[in-house]
Amino acid sequence: MSRIIIIGAGFSSLSAAAYLAKAGHEVHVLEKWEQPGGRARTFSAEGFLFDMGPSWYWMPDVFERFFGNFGKKVSDYYNLVRIDPSYKVVWQDGSQWDIPAGMKALAKLLEEKEKGAGKQLEKFLAQAKKKYELGIQELVYKPNLSFAEYLHLGLLKGLLESDVFTSMRKHIAKYFSDSKIIELLEFPVLFLGAGAQDIPALYSLMNYADIVGGTWYPMGGMHLIAKAMEAVAKEQGAHFHYGEEVISISTNGDKINGIKTSKGLWEGDFYLSGADYHHTENLLPKTLQQYDENYWQKRTMAPSALIYYVGLNTKMPDTVPHHTLFFDADFERHSEEIYDRPQMPTDPLFYLCAPSKTDSSVAPAGCENLFFLIPTAPGLDNDTEEVRQKYFDMLCTRLEKHYGMNIRPHIVYQRSFSVKDFKQDYNSFKGNAYGLANTLNQTAILKPRLVSKKVRNLAYCGQLTVPGPGVPPALVSGEVAANYIHQKLKRTNH
Ligand SMILES: Cc1cc2nc3c(=O)[nH]c(=O)nc-3n(C[C@H](O)[C@H](O)[C@H](O)COP(=O)(O)OP(=O)(O)OC[C@H]3O[C@@H](n4cnc5c(N)ncnc54)[C@H](O)[C@@H]3O)c2cc1C
Repeated sequence: MSRIIIIGAGFSSLSAAAYLAKAGHEVHVLEKWEQPGGRARTFSAEGFLFDMGPSWYWMPDVFERFFGNFGKKVSDYYNLVRIDPSYKVVWQDGSQWDIPAGMKALAKLLEEKEKGAGKQLEKFLAQAKKKYELGIQELVYKPNLSFAEYLHLGLLKGLLESDVFTSMRKHIAKYFSDSKIIELLEFPVLFLGAGAQDIPALYSLMNYADIVGGTWYPMGGMHLIAKAMEAVAKEQGAHFHYGEEVISISTNGDKINGIKTSKGLWEGDFYLSGADYHHTENLLPKTLQQYDENYWQKRTMAPSALIYYVGLNTKMPDTVPHHTLFFDADFERHSEEIYDRPQMPTDPLFYLCAPSKTDSSVAPAGCENLFFLIPTAPGLDNDTEEVRQKYFDMLCTRLEKHYGMNIRPHIVYQRSFSVKDFKQDYNSFKGNAYGLANTLNQTAILKPRLVSKKVRNLAYCGQLTVPGPGVPPALVSGEVAANYIHQKLKRTNH
């Protein structure tokens, strides 16, 4: 049995803690905040319960696999419901599409918009299914420490058939010509932190996840996933220490011999960091850092976000669903203002989540719990109160235009969260929200390594290493890191 110290209690760390404890190790998780979940923290105010980060529950099979590996089921911990319509899209011309759950219903809708699009969707998704299976069964569970992991014929063939060298934009355009359908199918790659022109077509697997896998919601809120994973890890024997921020790492040669937190010193045989990669590297002496500042400056970070948590003392109209994507602005311009000419968006696309439409427990009776998110360029520090208020006002006006309701007089709670908060709360590089973008040259083996090349007893997990951003990948990342550490410790007889 070895003693393993894990930094952070985000999804990736929770996953790793559970697997390492199951393998028989003594596991200690040190988390800065007083609760598990990391970017999926929660807070309550004025009777509202706000999830601070993720709100889309996709790839339910990945969660089921996690709990299944510990002899449990998702339903042992929370009640998962499928949302239908999955989401609504509000377009520039003012029209609104309710995206129905399931492929058949969506094919019918698309057929009404473009002749032949229903059949094309079936073809598109048949190929996306193969990619999803290849991704889930073969690709995501690789530690990506060497190209050799890819050297077997079946996998190489699968990769070539998956259009890894074509962009999502070109791939989708081969099937559809209606601009709204194209935008709709490009939407899921936004989760991967870059525009469709820069994301490999392999990721149409995300369309499969969206349309076939479905959009789900754990009744009670997204934070219940973290609580459930913490419970699993504790059942396996892992120990959690909250309110402990790691402030320095001490080394001896090429080994860590202890880490200092706000409360004391922790020593272990192996260390795993689920905190932001750049932050952890910066806690090490320069000679033991694998990537210098120049490397990080050249990375394409996934966007940051300007977020508002809002409580209303009334309900919004029934036409407002759980998830709305406001694509009523110029997609290209907003994308350029995130990636090419970083600046606050002129006329942003935004996302509205109203979880109280599905779950009455997250708001007082007769009230609405709202979460607004504008994707913004990482690294912009001018998110002052005035700037935040200006954008919020813009969103209220757009909401009124499309949903016919002025929410301003009904606001009983409002809090914003942006770049400065991401930096302060999560030690996030440039205040990124979702880590590193999954562009072609930042995919798989080209991501920051899961295992340190310079420190013998240090590994990483989470959204800045493999497989990438998002809650399901974080679960996978923790599992892969845990397997690596366990095998390595076994080899060295710990
Ligand atoms: C606003 C927002 C919306 C999102 N929406 C979705 C969505 O709908 N669906 C989806 O699948 N994904 C979504 N994501 C992405 C997803 O939430 C993340 O990819 C995932 O939660 C990352 O998990 P992680 O374990 O890598 O890191 P984190 O959640 O960032 O966990 C890292 C932990 O380390 C702690 N930490 C940092 N420094 C220290 C230190 N020095 N000492 C101790 N602890 C430290 C932090 O407090 C944090 O708890 C969203 C993210 C954000 C921010």
